[in-house]
Formats: sequence, C-alpha cells, structure tokens
Amino acid sequence: MYHVAIMAHERARRASVLAGSEEKGQVMHPSKPARLTVAIVGGGFTGGAIALHLATSRRQGLAIDIVVFEPRERLGAGLAYDTEESVHRINVPAGRMSLYPDAPGHFQDWIERTDALKDDGEALAEDGLHYPRRGLFGRYVADHLAPWLASGAVWHHRARVENIQRQGPRWMVSAADGLSIEADIVILAATHPAPGLPGVLAGLRNDPNLIADATRPDALASVGDTDRILIVGNGLTAADVIAALEARGHTGDILSISRRGLRSRGHAPQVQEPFGDFLSQPAATASDLLRRVRVTLRAAEAEGRTWHSVLDAVRAQGQEIWQRLPVAERRRIARHVRPFWDVHRFRIAPQVEAAVERAISAGRLTVLAASVAAAGADAQGIWVTLKPRRSRQTVRRHVDKVIVTTGPDHGGVLASQPFLASLARQGKVTACPTGLGILCARDGRAIDAGGRVVDGLYVAGPLARGTFGELMGLPQVSDYAVFIAARVGEDLAAWAAPDETAAAPSRASA
Ligand SMILES: Cc1cc2nc3c(=O)[nH]c(=O)nc-3n(C[C@H](O)[C@H](O)[C@H](O)COP(=O)(O)OP(=O)(O)OC[C@H]3O[C@@H](n4cnc5c(N)ncnc54)[C@H](O)[C@@H]3O)c2cc1C
Repeated sequence: MYHVAIMAHERARRASVLAGSEEKGQVMHPSKPARLTVAIVGGGFTGGAIALHLATSRRQGLAIDIVVFEPRERLGAGLAYDTEESVHRINVPAGRMSLYPDAPGHFQDWIERTDALKDDGEALAEDGLHYPRRGLFGRYVADHLAPWLASGAVWHHRARVENIQRQGPRWMVSAADGLSIEADIVILAATHPAPGLPGVLAGLRNDPNLIADATRPDALASVGDTDRILIVGNGLTAADVIAALEARGHTGDILSISRRGLRSRGHAPQVQEPFGDFLSQPAATASDLLRRVRVTLRAAEAEGRTWHSVLDAVRAQGQEIWQRLPVAERRRIARHVRPFWDVHRFRIAPQVEAAVERAISAGRLTVLAASVAAAGADAQGIWVTLKPRRSRQTVRRHVDKVIVTTGPDHGGVLASQPFLASLARQGKVTACPTGLGILCARDGRAIDAGGRVVDGLYVAGPLARGTFGELMGLPQVSDYAVFIAARVGEDLAAWAAPDETAAAPSRASA
C-alpha cells in the first residue's frame, strides 16, 4: 500500500508525541499499515488551511498522515501574517477574512469570543470595520490548527524542503535537516519568493545600506532616525515600511518611486454592493474587458457609487472572467494592466493609509513616478540616478538607505528554490506563461513539461493564479485551499482505509 521512510530522530519524536496523545485518550495507531501520506511544502496560510481541511476530512474516514514542512515556528501565518510589527494591518476587513469561506465572519467571531482586540485601540476604522494587526490573523489560524497538531492529525516539521524526487507512483520529499519521507501526494504551497533585485541595483547587492527584502523580520533595524531613504516600489509593502518608520520615530526624508508613481488606494467611505456584470457577455480580449470596466465605472458614478463597487464586481467575477480569456490576452493583462489592478484591488488599511498621508503632508515623504537609471556607493553613502517618467532629464541623489519593496518575484519562482528547480529539471513543473507562477490544470494538479497533468502533485495558493485568475487576497486564497483539500481528499478516498478510531477536535471546539 504505502510506505513512509522517516529518519530515526523523527520517528522517536513522533513516537513520544503519539504516546502523549494516547495519555490524553486520543488513541493513535502508528503501526497501522493502510495509511497514505500527504506532504505539504510550505505552512503559510495556504498550507495551514489545506492541512486543517484535510484533517477534517480525515475525521470523516480517511486514514492519512498530513506532514507540513514549514521552517517558521507558527503554522498558518506565512509571509503575510507572521509579523509582530504593530503597524502591519490586514487590508481586508476582519469580517471578510476566514478559514471557512462558508462562514465569512469566522475570524470576526473569534476576535469577539476571545476579546482579541482589547489591547488594540486603533483596530476599528472610521468605516466601522475592524482592521486588526496581521499577526492576529496568524494567531487565529494557528489557534484553529493547534488541536489538530496536538492530536497528531497534522504534523508540523520545522525544516525547509530541499528536494522532491518522483519515485514510481510516489514522491520522495527531502528536507534540509536530513528528514526524507515518501509521500503519495505533494502539495506545493511555498508561495512567495523573495523580491528580485532590480538589475540596476545589482552592484549594491552586498552593501549594508541596501535593504533588498523589506518583508524580513528586523529589515528596518539598521535604519537611523534621520536617514535619507529611497524606497523602490510604491505598493502595500512600501506603505507598511512608511508606517513602520513613523512608528520608530524616523524623521528623515523618504522618496518612494515606482515606474508609474501609482499608490495603493484606500477603502470606500461606506460599504457598497459590487456593481457590474462582466460574465453575461464575457470579454474575449484585454482591451474589450478594459472598455467594459470603463463603461461600468461611468454608470456607477452616475448612480452615486464609487469605483470600489465596480472593482469589487470584477474581483468577485474575476476567476470566470480570467478563465474565459485566451492565454495571450491573460498575458497582456499580467504585463500591462496589473499595476493598475493591484493598486485598486489591494486596498490599503485605513490606519496605514493615514500614516502615509501624515508623512506626505509633513513633507517627509515624496512619491514619484520614476525609475533608477544607475546606482552605486561612495563616501557619502549610496548615490542614485533617477529618471522621472516622461522626462529626458535625470536627477542624481544621495541617500543613506535603499529599500526594495517591489514584491515577490513570482515570475522567477521556479529558480528561487532548489526543490522547485529540481522539479522543473525533472519536467514535473513548468512556469505559467502568464509569468504569475506555476502552470496547473483547473483541478489544481501541476502540468508537466509535456503538457500532461501530473498525478499527485498540486499547485496551491497564489502560485496557481495564472490558471485561476484573481487568487491573492485572503478570501480567494481561502476558497482555493478548501477546493484543493477537497480535490486531494477525493484522490485519497479512492485508496485510504477508514480510520474510525482517530480522535479529532470538532470545528466548534477548535
Ligand atoms: C505582506 C503581505 C501582506 C498581505 N496582507 C493581506 C491582507 O491583509 N489581506 C488579504 O486579503 N491578503 C493579504 N495578502 C495576500 C494573501 O493573504 C497572502 O498572499 C496569502 O496569505 C498567501 O499565503 P501562502 O501560504 O500561499 O504563502 P506564504 O505566506 O508565502 O507562505 C508560504 C510558506 O512557505 C514556506 N516555505 C517556503 N519555502 C519552503 C520550503 N522550501 N520548504 C518548506 N517551507 C517553505 C515559507 O516559510 C512560508 O511560510 C498579503 C500578502 C503579503 C505578501
């Protein structure tokens, strides 16, 4: 049936945990033969949510081991929610962020039940909605995973996966600490690679005054209170950086640039229903879609609605809109429309927006449409030559720090890690032609170099958005996690023996 090859130290660790579970009356069967193994690579929100939903189906009769490889201490948080920074806030109201898409208020209910905002006087925004700290959402997910980890239904193995090799019908998954397991199904959930360093900054790669990845913990630790700063990239991460600098008492000048100078937009003053129908007569080209959006924007305005309602409709219908477009048109959208889409779609939390506005009105922050033409270091720090948009002139400046906030390099994801590069060499995964991640079929399974669906290999989380379209905001990511768990559950149900004795916590108690 199946086989788990596990290193001796891991076997011992498992045995002691299992013994602990038995003491608590949760009878486990480590020697039971008819079990299947699911390896989830990456335990951010996606990996954590899939593990949770799979564990739930286990209660319904599936005998499986669910092993999540995740180097972070907390499972379910990942890049977005594994942060202790107090100014990092969720940018979607709490009432729409949930582990359970069929219960959108689940996180908000948890907040109220646990009085989780008692020390956060700023969470409630003027629109009457809660935008808690991002770390709190990470705690909510971890809280719901905890009973499954305690019961042994889900294993969190704290190590990076370094290699995945096809072995007959199974996969050998090898981690950096020497553990190797054989898995029947592998789920790729290592979503966000580090940002790519713009080529023009490559000469500064080893300069301590270049902060190449602003999402790393303590990324801003070396910034002095009066440092002159250049931020490259104007999106939500830049806004996080500006708010975090203010909270640290930074008073130096900040210049924030992006090619188009676009800034992430805020939320509507009042909650509105989505407005617009983009599916009855679906667009066949990117330009047709844009034309329809513009027409709908005018209609919305005439009815006293703001653009938010139209963009919300596009987002809600986004996956279907995307899937009806030919790949060449999707590519066109990814290349030309995405910067505009991102700043309207990913809205800034009101508290972070207020910090950015304060910095602008105090004259500390300048936002510019410009690119870096050249950069280097000299005795005065870092010098940059900037090329403002639509200008032939360049401007030379000295700064103390350059902070890169251009976002994860999803287009280069297959080269970002040895295990992905290895899967690509084996021909088991291919880059999505849209440049948005890894190519997969509509059921989430990877597509190999020959265009065939790969059994037992799933692409989870936003890396699948080239196929599905809008799949980055938490509500869509949560939906997709449920879908993948159900799909994997169907695969497993065909093989697994029921595990009726396994004790499992219920959703209500979790
Ligand atoms: C900074 C940020 C803030 C966001 N804020 C919001 C928000 O407020 N609201 C909203 O709706 N959406 C938000 N999003 C979007 C969305 O919620 C996230 O992108 C989503 O949580 C994706 O989670 P994930 O688990 O797929 O990816 P990730 O969070 O990237 O998790 C992947 C995990 O894989 C692990 N990993 C990587 N390589 C390996 C390996 N080789 N072996 C084992 N593990 C590995 C990493 O340690 C990481 O924990 C935000 C995104 C970001 C980046």
